[in-house]
Amino acid sequence: MEHLINKSTANTILGFIRNSQHIAIVPHVNPDGDAIGSCQALWRILKNAGKDATVVIPNEFPDFLQWIDGSNEAINFSGNTKTAKKTISEADLLFVLDFNNFERSENMAKTLAKYKGKSVMIDHHPMPVAPCDVIISHTEISSTCELLFRVMHDIGFDTYIDKNAAEAIFTGMMTDTGNFSYNASSPNTYRIIAALLEKGIDKDQVHANVYHTFSSNRWRLIGHSLKEKMVIMPEHKTGYISLSKKELEQFDHQPGDTEGLVNYPLMVKDIVFCVLFIEKDDFVKVSLRSKGTFSVNDFARAHCNGGGHDNAAGGKINLPLEEAIQYFESLLPAYKEQLYTSIE
Ligand code: 5GP
Ligand code: MN
Repeated sequence: MEHLINKSTANTILGFIRNSQHIAIVPHVNPDGDAIGSCQALWRILKNAGKDATVVIPNEFPDFLQWIDGSNEAINFSGNTKTAKKTISEADLLFVLDFNNFERSENMAKTLAKYKGKSVMIDHHPMPVAPCDVIISHTEISSTCELLFRVMHDIGFDTYIDKNAAEAIFTGMMTDTGNFSYNASSPNTYRIIAALLEKGIDKDQVHANVYHTFSSNRWRLIGHSLKEKMVIMPEHKTGYISLSKKELEQFDHQPGDTEGLVNYPLMVKDIVFCVLFIEKDDFVKVSLRSKGTFSVNDFARAHCNGGGHDNAAGGKINLPLEEAIQYFESLLPAYKEQLYTSIE
């Protein structure tokens, strides 16, 4: 595989690692499989290289990722703020993984802004703005885990990628591509999977750990969402699902339970744009997905105080749930042409 980063960048990163005593690794808020996978993989790789590393996560993360090696040692910033702040401020090297703007770490953003040591960002979201010394930003690569593998390869750290690190990397590659169903057409993705298999990963077990460990309530919440709450608007090629706090409580909602739910309306024929509205205490969290050229990153930046990728984005609407939905519906007519030409 050709090199992703040049020799000088590789040497800079190597120098940072060599000269560091304490390394902190951070993902975005509400971390997903790619965020936790990349952080824990790098944590294990750095430990194998004899370095002291700590993962600091802005808030709690789903059960279906808690099997990942070392994730039980990660510090939760919201639950253990004092230790988390100390870890970040005492680090002399910071890895920013799977996000590119400190605001995306929410409650942790101020602590990151105050951090004075060296920093490296490895990310695949558009428009990076975080003030890091090294920025490795590749939107064409489908997961941060895949990027991390390439960077570790380019700095000569292959030997430190053991089975556990390889399984964490595979997790992010799998979850950020919907189990290799989208953004997964690059031959390099499969070259990397081949290398991970050679590291001894149990691919089927990783899949089962993530996708076959639902609680019965999670399935019932999905059933309820599809039967009672999915709205399809064929005239706008759009669909959405909304869930109130009350409904979430009714199904004993746990972090990660609504992961993937946003995608269902997109499986309806001719639907190219879909949204999941989740009622929070004082705003509505929105997840947006699209097929084709319609950019949900642009839509989320314009209307939802958010962003993401062209076909997967998120954000917030500061309105009560019903008003947020009305607001969303009122925006659609202006997008008719873009929605109708998203897939020719
Ligand atoms: P999800 O809908 O799964 O929460 O997020 C989908 C994508 O949008 C992810 O790539 C995520 O990083 C991004 N995203 C989610 N929420 C936000 C947000 O509030 N702001 C920004 N800038 N990106 C978001
Ligand atoms: Mn990602």
